[in-house]
Amino acid sequence: MTGTGTQVIVGLEVHCQLDTRSKLFCGCSTDYRNDGPNTHVCPVCLGLPGSMPVLNKKAIEYAMRVAKALNCSILHESEFSRKNYFYPDLDKAYQVTQYDKPLAEGGYLEIEGDEGGEKRVRLTRIHVEEDPGRLVHMGNAERGKYSLVDYNRAGIPLIEIVSEPDMRSPKEARKFLNKLRATLEYLGVFDSEKEGSIRVDANISIVGSERVEVKNITSYKGVEKALNFEITRQKNLLRRGLKVDRETRHFVEARGITQSARSKEQEHDYRYFPEPDLRPLHVRSWVAGIVLPELPDARRERFIAQYGCSLNHARTLTGELKLANFYEKVVAADPKGLATPAATWIADTLIGELNYRDMSLDSVDTRNFTGLVRLLNEGTITDKSGVEVLRVMLDQRHTKVPCETPEEIVARLNLAKTAGDGGALLGIISEVIAENPKAVEDYRNGKNGALNFLVGQVMKKTRGRSDPGELNRMMVESLKNKEG
Ligand SMILES: [Zn+2]
Repeated sequence: MTGTGTQVIVGLEVHCQLDTRSKLFCGCSTDYRNDGPNTHVCPVCLGLPGSMPVLNKKAIEYAMRVAKALNCSILHESEFSRKNYFYPDLDKAYQVTQYDKPLAEGGYLEIEGDEGGEKRVRLTRIHVEEDPGRLVHMGNAERGKYSLVDYNRAGIPLIEIVSEPDMRSPKEARKFLNKLRATLEYLGVFDSEKEGSIRVDANISIVGSERVEVKNITSYKGVEKALNFEITRQKNLLRRGLKVDRETRHFVEARGITQSARSKEQEHDYRYFPEPDLRPLHVRSWVAGIVLPELPDARRERFIAQYGCSLNHARTLTGELKLANFYEKVVAADPKGLATPAATWIADTLIGELNYRDMSLDSVDTRNFTGLVRLLNEGTITDKSGVEVLRVMLDQRHTKVPCETPEEIVARLNLAKTAGDGGALLGIISEVIAENPKAVEDYRNGKNGALNFLVGQVMKKTRGRSDPGELNRMMVESLKNKEG
């Protein structure tokens, strides 16, 4: 057990863009990513004098869905406030956010903890706010000549989810984010594939020392990297008898390091006050009307009960909405036969092959993948050939139209198992026995490794098309016959 001085404490503040069609306080479209700068703007989101905000009801509904799913208590009256500060991406010189009366408080999210089993990470609060605009640096931030500002993002609805400092490692922080992402996707309020749709501030400290805030981490992997860097940095300071300063640091994604922000951001006086243009928000009558869909934990348990998935497979498959849907589509054709092989092939093989190619699940043809699992399940091809067929299928997605079906690939590459073709296989076995007298003698002298060697030689000649179990049996049989 780790004692004082090494135990790590992590808390997260996660900003997620809600996937509404229009912005939080105006009718501008949120679908700005492929359009030119400052094309999704109006007097409201540009903060022009005299313009008045109108609250987007959908955004509040989405936020309440999240609050309910995360077991928070939704406050019957919440309030918007102005957070005043000057920065070029903030056209009004204040951000409309929620301060002392947030939408929801408390709640928790369950993750798979480092010590095994489910672990509850408590939440402090969830509040709604508007996204600021975006600065585009010409050149890079330090040496660029100038920066441009794009207000397309200004006014996009965000929720900020603040956790208690309940995580004990960067890995737990990653699991928290993954689970949060999955939950938001299941709720239909968030699109994780949109660039910049999630941003994280992480608080991290070593027990007994000051807390450091790392700001504006913009990727899931970045969170783990930033935390690992901070742990090493803070532990090194302590080892050298120095102290960790309480400060704000920025994560430099490209270099995988954090840098002191060198400003007194934490000492800012934001002069919060209630937003006079918006009335307090009363949601009492809405709460009961919010019906939640099946969430990741429930789906995981269902996969175990309905399809006989192992806990690990069920966790992996339900960890992303798309993946869970894909699995159920594949299995639908023949739940009894395909449930187990499909779980294994998706969780253990497909995901790895996709990651290796930097491909998304969208590029996998469900029908062809189902065909492949069928061939494996019926024993037409070996696992080794299955991987080969899968790789051909994935590689063809970008080069060949239309793609071959798995059956066509098996036929073209002559990958069907040779076991059915007993005569030919027996011939190869005899050949191998004749070519390796030493190994045959070793086998007769009771060296079991010799059998594996001989089987391996046959596998080589048949290019992995033989079923290893079947081949083993035939080899033993042949050796016995030769002896007789
Ligand atoms: Zn607007």
